[in-house]
Amino acid sequence: MQIILYTYNCTGCGRCAKHCPKKILKMADNGMCRFVNVTDENSCTGCGKCVKLCAAKAIRIREEHGYYGIRHFKAPGS
Ligand code: SF4
Ligand code: SF4
Repeated sequence: MQIILYTYNCTGCGRCAKHCPKKILKMADNGMCRFVNVTDENSCTGCGKCVKLCAAKAIRIREEHGYYGIRHFKAPGS
């Protein structure tokens, strides 16, 4: 499973991290803002809870055979 984080869109609400059944989403803080991060993407089951809960549309998941990883993108227009 590939987890794509649009961290520029993340408001830092923490809902995804709170409800991820695998507890792999964690909140990070760089002193200026709070944003979501992933600890172990290989444990992601692809349940889609985080995507549904995110009002900012800052997370996407994608099944991609032979690829495991996290990519941080700046969302178009942001
Ligand atoms: S639910 Fe969305 S906006 Fe809230 S912390 Fe997670 S990624 Fe960020
Ligand atoms: S898809 Fe499910 S297991 Fe994967 S990060 Fe989101 S909530 Fe966690």
